[in-house]
Amino acid sequence: MADDFPTQARAVIIGGGIVGCSLAYHLTRLGWRDVVLLEQGRLSSGTTWHAAGLVGQLRSHANMTRLIRYSTELYAALEAGTGLATGWKQCGSITVARTAERMTQLRRTASTARAQGVEIEVLTPAQAGEKWPIMRTGDLAGAVWLPGDGKANPTDLTQALARGARARGARIFEQTRVAGIRLKDGAVSMVETNRGTVACDVVAICAGQWSREIGRMCGVTIPLHSAEHMYIVTERIDGVHPDLPVMRDPDGYIYFKEEVGGLVMGGFEPDAKPWGMDGIPADFEFQLLPDDWDQFEILMKNALERVPALETAAIKTFLNGPESFTPDNNFILGEAPETRNVFVAAGFNSMGIASAGGAGRALAEWIVGGEPSFDLWPVDIRRFARFNGNRVWLRDRVKEVLGLHYAMPWPNHELTTARPFRRSPLFDRLAAKGAVFGSKMGWERPNWFAPPGIERRTGYSFGRQNWFAHVAEEHRACREGVALFDMTSFAKFLMQGPDSEQVLQTLCANDVSVPAGRSVYTPMLNERGGFESDLTVARLAPDCFLILTGTAQATRDAHWIRGHIPGSARAVLTDVTSGYAVIGVMGPRSRELLGRVTHAALDQADFPFGTVREIGIGYATVWASRRSYMGELGWELYVPSEFAVTVYETLAEAGGDLGVRDAGYYAIESLRLEKGHRAWGRELTPDDNPWEAGLGFAVQLDKKGGFIGREALAAARGRPLTRRLVSFLATAPDTPAAWGGELVTANGDPIGGITSAAYGYTLGGVVALGWVRSAGEPIDPAWLAERRFALDVAGEPVPVRARVCRHLTGGDSGATVFLIHSRSAFRKADRWGVMG
Ligand SMILES: Cc1cc2nc3c(=O)[nH]c(=O)nc-3n(C[C@H](O)[C@H](O)[C@H](O)COP(=O)(O)OP(=O)(O)OC[C@H]3O[C@@H](n4cnc5c(N)ncnc54)[C@H](O)[C@@H]3O)c2cc1C
Repeated sequence: MADDFPTQARAVIIGGGIVGCSLAYHLTRLGWRDVVLLEQGRLSSGTTWHAAGLVGQLRSHANMTRLIRYSTELYAALEAGTGLATGWKQCGSITVARTAERMTQLRRTASTARAQGVEIEVLTPAQAGEKWPIMRTGDLAGAVWLPGDGKANPTDLTQALARGARARGARIFEQTRVAGIRLKDGAVSMVETNRGTVACDVVAICAGQWSREIGRMCGVTIPLHSAEHMYIVTERIDGVHPDLPVMRDPDGYIYFKEEVGGLVMGGFEPDAKPWGMDGIPADFEFQLLPDDWDQFEILMKNALERVPALETAAIKTFLNGPESFTPDNNFILGEAPETRNVFVAAGFNSMGIASAGGAGRALAEWIVGGEPSFDLWPVDIRRFARFNGNRVWLRDRVKEVLGLHYAMPWPNHELTTARPFRRSPLFDRLAAKGAVFGSKMGWERPNWFAPPGIERRTGYSFGRQNWFAHVAEEHRACREGVALFDMTSFAKFLMQGPDSEQVLQTLCANDVSVPAGRSVYTPMLNERGGFESDLTVARLAPDCFLILTGTAQATRDAHWIRGHIPGSARAVLTDVTSGYAVIGVMGPRSRELLGRVTHAALDQADFPFGTVREIGIGYATVWASRRSYMGELGWELYVPSEFAVTVYETLAEAGGDLGVRDAGYYAIESLRLEKGHRAWGRELTPDDNPWEAGLGFAVQLDKKGGFIGREALAAARGRPLTRRLVSFLATAPDTPAAWGGELVTANGDPIGGITSAAYGYTLGGVVALGWVRSAGEPIDPAWLAERRFALDVAGEPVPVRARVCRHLTGGDSGATVFLIHSRSAFRKADRWGVMG
């Protein structure tokens, strides 16, 4: 039996479900022949075989939609390419709304779909009934129709992908269990199986719900946890035919799909049932879990309301299978940050059939090309950290995650399970002052502060939310007085050693060869010239730099930086995030406040923008850095964690008569968007370069020694900017709230999408940033001036003014992008607050 078993391979794929087979298919299509896939049971015998097979294209992130659209194209073509049927049928899908709010959400979805180029139509209840005659429509508010959606047979798809892979050289071994992974010098070297060992250059973990344990074999954190997931299949029902679209009724948590003249009905209940707390059995092959009608009851009840014919339909099958879910309901893809040459595609949150085609291709391109071929941040494994692998935390979180598929995707929606998780030293102090916390990278962060007597809860809505007037006061404090921000969640690294400067010069597009005591804002670019990150580098000493980067980017940036420290360099990166709290002291009176608690000289001549210096505050010694994301005079204080409470109390007491206020992340969003300050992951991604983003001031093309991405940027420099980041402002009194994702039109034609939006209290209107594309003409102020721009907010065209996102000049109190910054504008905002 072991005769033909290989002793070495270029790539070993662990797992023969749809995802592993898709990866083998795409690796071989990219020319890697020496690919070995190992499956402990038989192909598709894990989770894939019992999937319902729905394939819905639309996701909130354009590149995620792109992945699934590719899946649909692949599935449609696979039979012709492999000779095996896949059951793919482009039957379209319909999603119905039971409430006015859900209909608003569907209209917003339609706007996002158009921004992403996905065909979509908004339907009346009657039109929905024509497409799905056996459903009750009397209670509906409307629906949307996506003609490109479809369904497929998961097992057949898997076999077709496997055949396609074999035809180009991949070898697939069933009944072969991986029992260990050996490492050499921090990289994978060998896979141990029940049939022998295979030496390899690359390992890809595509082992579904078993992936977490396999990750542990090689020190890789794969945070996923199984939950039970159920559907029923009925006998034939009159009116159900193979062309019947897939139908989703998210307010009832349910979906329907035709199968052999009957209906598959399943769903995503809000309170899910975790499974596999003691590990997933290795022999769980073509197996299911016991029926659980109690758990299914809520879905059944809602389905009977929607499709009365179910009352008399015979139920052929009750199917309960485990599927793996992740902490944020997005799958996990990419190169593991902990161990070299280990790649992961797992945790598909009941979207593995829809996603497998695109995910397999994206991972194959990543493996072969050494980096993702486009921005994959929503699914990038590096959005997690090691602490996300905690089993108890995962079990508690997964209860909520399954239901997210059909939960209302409210703006600012926060998950509530498995919290609080990471707490700043100021957490209790801020909670006592009314902080309403949100969560990012596990950190509890104040979103806004509820004054006494106001409920400490964000009231979700697509319109103005309950915090509007309170955040106005936080915003005002920062623009007119002084505000304190707990920004402890920033990721922080120390780069130390005699070669630190040289390493950072190669990584950073700006010139960080500055004297100790200076800080520099800089992009870190990939070879394509796209943003891998944007961060602040502060030189604390000749051989020591403090790097400040976004909360969510801690793992990713550390991985990128460490991956570019040459083996011979005397430079070490240390994550010091937990060691320092960050307190922002921001606003025109910040100097006055700080001046009361420090002996350090703070005036412009002594402490200009971009200075970083150790100063005393009360009893504590902290690093003070003069910079501001909010665009006001201000200092970020990097405070050793044990001094954080002291420093905070000292500032709060000293600022009483200055009206110092606590302010949260909703105020930051409003403040930074007025100034056109970009956020990595939204405005800035690996697909965007600094010229397009208006950040050319932070690029030193001619600095000695060059930097990663320089050649791409130099080549792009002279070309006309046909794609550009633009600031928008809408000040009409009845402007609806925008939240990001909206379609942008110019003279009525779609030309882009909004990445971030908020209410700008100083400007008195909706402020937004978004990417627009021209038909080939350079996008410049004249091009913008010639056109009438609008945002599509839930189907309503909202006229906006547009400005090229200005180059920052590197100051901390720059003008807003739209030059109407004045106190009278603020009074206007007050009037808005009353109306809200
Ligand atoms: C009830 C239900 C309905 C669903 N409906 C849909 C749907 O309509 N649309 C959709 O897109 N998705 C759906 N899904 C989700 C979908 O089934 C999964 O996301 C997908 O099958 C995951 O594929 P995979 O290849 O990652 O995992 P799997 O199919 O589980 O494959 C992983 C493989 O790895 C193997 N393996 C594990 N450990 C080892 C080892 N040590 N050595 C060797 N091999 C190993 C396992 O045996 C297994 O075969 C549904 C899921 C469920 C449970």
